[in-house]
Amino acid sequence: MTGSEPLVLVVEDEPQMRRFLRACLHSQGYRLVEAGTGAEAMLLATSHNPELVLLDLGLPDEDGVALTRRLREWSRVPIIVISARGREEDKVSALDAGADDYLTKPFGTSELMALMRVALRRAPTGEGIPPTLSFGTLRIDFSRREVTRNGQTVHLTPIEYKLLSLLAQNAGKVLTHRQILKDVWGPAQTNQAHYVRVHMAELRKKIEADPARPRLLITEPGVGYRLRDQPEG
Ligand code: CA
Repeated sequence: MTGSEPLVLVVEDEPQMRRFLRACLHSQGYRLVEAGTGAEAMLLATSHNPELVLLDLGLPDEDGVALTRRLREWSRVPIIVISARGREEDKVSALDAGADDYLTKPFGTSELMALMRVALRRAPTGEGIPPTLSFGTLRIDFSRREVTRNGQTVHLTPIEYKLLSLLAQNAGKVLTHRQILKDVWGPAQTNQAHYVRVHMAELRKKIEADPARPRLLITEPGVGYRLRDQPEG
């Protein structure tokens, strides 16, 4: 092996299935790292930057669909779900969360290999969102869902975290009230502009040195909000 073969992250808690996948992948020349829990998977995804993820949905500490959603907050790595759950709604929820494909157990080796080849071909060549972003003294670690300011943890509610992540991943761009509502609260809530105002005010109290004179989270009057990508001073 030259070390340039694609690195695959296998997330699976059943030892038998792990052995089977390991044998399959090795025989085809893939390199792999293995995780038995969602927590291990997140760690390996950030430390090893795999080119493909094979993901079991039933993990001891976290549902695979939730894990997919968390990975998608910062990574575009192709994800193929391998699951015993064969119902249509299971497939839909995994695909909606950001999985690229879905394989129901039991399956044949050649089918898995074919899906992996397709996923790797389709894989984006550009860089995804890095696992951490910094704005002045504010730092967001997407893999840990952790926000710090001057090295101190900032305690955000889930909504505040979603708002900040959305703004950070679009730093420098203006996001309209409507876009923010759709992404954070869902398509049914796009008329609730006051939600955005209230939560932005709360978020400012936590991330701005002087919330009355924000340097980071900027209001674009009548349009929406923007996170400054290069905050002054
Ligand atoms: Ca399992």
